[in-house]
Amino acid sequence: MNPQNITIGVLALQGDFLEHIQMLKRIGVKTKEIKQAADLENIDGIILPGGESTTIAYLLDAFGLREILIQKIQDGLPAFGTCAGMIILAKKLVQALPIPLGLMDITVNRNAFGRQIDSFEVPLPIKPLGDKLFSATFIRAPIIEKTGPDVEILATLADGTIAAVKQKNILATAFHPELTRDTRFHEYFISKIPLANLIPYVL
Ligand code: GLN
Repeated sequence: MNPQNITIGVLALQGDFLEHIQMLKRIGVKTKEIKQAADLENIDGIILPGGESTTIAYLLDAFGLREILIQKIQDGLPAFGTCAGMIILAKKLVQALPIPLGLMDITVNRNAFGRQIDSFEVPLPIKPLGDKLFSATFIRAPIIEKTGPDVEILATLADGTIAAVKQKNILATAFHPELTRDTRFHEYFISKIPLANLIPYVL
């Protein structure tokens, strides 16, 4: 299907949602800013951006988006979370706050790279993206400490730290593909959406 027929919602409460929107425009997909529950109608997928997960979670609750978002993603809406977005999608956090949506069977430790190296960029091999390495930008990034049986690991750092995962209709990265000019991660996310109406979306 033509990407022009696909509309991806981008949660636009806080964080780098504009960078995701630019990326999606570059690959020819229609976009919609999601700020309230009604915005979740007529979208083919949703991106949860990087930013500050406590603020995003606070605003999700303040705008009454939590329950409906959980419902839609549980029902199969394709979802992609980057950094803080991944924290929000997680089942469990090492920290008490924020309360995540509990959708992806991962345990996440926020800000786990420590202060000295809280931002870095590294070329990563990413399974579904082919041989060419992906330049991954980590900004006060979380670490995925544990994954459940349904979670597939797509990328790890050289020391084995997990950096990208998928579970059924959910994709998540500890880094920020939206901050590069490399569109491959976003293309991967939308690659199976046209079949979503016929069979469940599975990455
Ligand atoms: N440190 C942020 C948090 O815990 C995530 C950082 C990011 O999204 N770049 O929410």
